[in-house]
Amino acid sequence: MSKIRILSEQIANRIAAGEVVERPASVIKELIENSLDAGADRIEIDVEGNGSKLMRVIDNGEGMDEDDVLLSLERHGTSKIKSDDDLRAIASLGFRGEALPSIASVSRMSVTSRQAGEDLGFQVIVHFGKLVKAHQAGCSLGTTVEIRNLFGNTPARRKFLRTARTELGHIEEIVKNYCLGAIDTAFILRINNRQVVHMEKGHSLQQRLARILHYYDEMMEIGSETEGKIAKRRVSGFLVPPDKGPAGGRNLRLFVNNRAVKDRLMTHAVADGLRGFLMKGKNPAGYLHLHLPPEEVDVNVHPAKHEVRFHNSRDIHLLISRTVERALHSWQQRIQSQIFGSHDVQDSSPVPVDNERPQERLFSRPAVEQTRFTPSSVSHSVTEDRQVFQTGYTDERTIPLKREFQNKGKSKQGSVISEQSAPYAIDRAAVNSQPSTQEFMRVIGVFKDLYIFCQTGDDLLVIDQHAAHERLLFEQLKKQHLTGKITAQSLLFPVTVELSVKQAQLVEQNLVQIEELGFQLRDFGGNSFIISAVPALVGQCDPSELFFDILWRFGDDSDQKDPKNPLDDLLSSLACKAAVKSGDRLEQTEVETLLTQMAKADLFSHCPHGRPVIKRFSGNDVKKWFYRT
Ligand code: ADP
Ligand code: MG
Repeated sequence: MSKIRILSEQIANRIAAGEVVERPASVIKELIENSLDAGADRIEIDVEGNGSKLMRVIDNGEGMDEDDVLLSLERHGTSKIKSDDDLRAIASLGFRGEALPSIASVSRMSVTSRQAGEDLGFQVIVHFGKLVKAHQAGCSLGTTVEIRNLFGNTPARRKFLRTARTELGHIEEIVKNYCLGAIDTAFILRINNRQVVHMEKGHSLQQRLARILHYYDEMMEIGSETEGKIAKRRVSGFLVPPDKGPAGGRNLRLFVNNRAVKDRLMTHAVADGLRGFLMKGKNPAGYLHLHLPPEEVDVNVHPAKHEVRFHNSRDIHLLISRTVERALHSWQQRIQSQIFGSHDVQDSSPVPVDNERPQERLFSRPAVEQTRFTPSSVSHSVTEDRQVFQTGYTDERTIPLKREFQNKGKSKQGSVISEQSAPYAIDRAAVNSQPSTQEFMRVIGVFKDLYIFCQTGDDLLVIDQHAAHERLLFEQLKKQHLTGKITAQSLLFPVTVELSVKQAQLVEQNLVQIEELGFQLRDFGGNSFIISAVPALVGQCDPSELFFDILWRFGDDSDQKDPKNPLDDLLSSLACKAAVKSGDRLEQTEVETLLTQMAKADLFSHCPHGRPVIKRFSGNDVKKWFYRT
């Protein structure tokens, strides 16, 4: 006698419920998706208790007729797909035909629906999978699904529910997600009769996002243009600028073809696009929507449908990271013109999307600008050598800055410029050798030999001199590295270093990369090496210190470093070493050169580790400090 038997539909539904209905929020998700698939543009949701007491979703969608209301509760009853082919390109949110029967098997449920043109609607009541009542009913247009006593017949499941706050939090998250995924739909969520979410049809994506993220400042818009050969694929959205807005991990809301998804690849790609601008441990926040032909993404991966699989995940990763990177660039240019005055943006051409080697970021096209140096500028002591700052910018030293105050404003305290200093203009025309508006920026002074205070327009700026310089050097090193090799600077007095066996091995294994960084080494027998050149941009640092730091990074296999971006790691460590430090007293002209450099740099707002370079306070902010409003 055979031991295998086919399970009853009731048990099959109960098993499906185990996967589909994890918690009250899963029910809300399925019901909202059904309402959206039915074309609703208004969805009202009521929740009581932690959700297991009552959940009700009322929509104004196309509704169902009598037969369909009954069929909707049958396992595998769906109006959304018909054939195997349809599965390959799913355009609706639902398609499995198992949500309603699964939910019905673990709750007391009623479905009431009326279609346009009908006087009466139809209602079905099911208790834990058993049909209790089916009858005509007067009701408004659309569909109402009511669920009570969720998991009433599965005490084990019920026990697994968390506190009401947690469960309600999940529900709220789901509703907020769909407020963003379906921006032409009004959403109202009431929890225990208190209205928690209220989004009207007229609320734009930006308005919705601002309310949901509680972030009301300008966001970084993610481009929506089509992308060359993959024109059918498009990324749009808004991100909270790095280091602003909410902290924590759950603030990046991802969508694929209107479906809210959880996807590590997408999250990673966003972070990758913001690389070097997000502080360690900080996550991107905002909203990102990927639109692509439905046949390029498999949504039939998980019963709860919040995971997807891309047919070409590498392309998708690249598309997202590049689009985000480009958004970052335009955002930089926008704040740059707010801070330093408008300028004709020269470097606005887009970052190429279909680059063969995604790891090679074209943060800006490699302008082959070799930094000149003079051997005499080599000094191992940062403090003695006032050329430090200019060394990196030898090509900029001749930039004429309009400095009407040059001789009268300088006070005795080093770089502190007295209050009488006339405002001076950073002459951007001279910088870019093309006409542009002159904006006024006044350096107020330097606080603690670290923070440069400036007034620009109505704003007060505080600039971290080290972080600012570090980013500029980092970008220069990166540009040079992209052209093949970082410019080396021969040492007047080569330095001999004695290595351990392990260190000597590291040198052997990584010699090419070390030389690409601008070092030149000669084997001196045994484990001794002679350093005869160092990267020119950091030429004023102690050669052996630089070298050992780099070497250590080659050997470091701890998770301290970002294994994906070893090069960024190396370059930022070089930049950090060479940048002016906290405590370095800058000359007035050095401050000006720094600001001029920032005003024309592609990227300037954060140091390579994601710490902000500039804090900006509006005149109003300052007023508020003193309650002068
Ligand atoms: P699926 O959404 O995967 O098709 P469901 O079990 O969620 O499966 O729903 C079954 C069917 O019931 C749907 O295909 C749809 O035709 C119908 N339906 C469910 N909810 C609604 C609704 N709110 N408005 C109109 N029709 C609905
Ligand atoms: Mg469904």
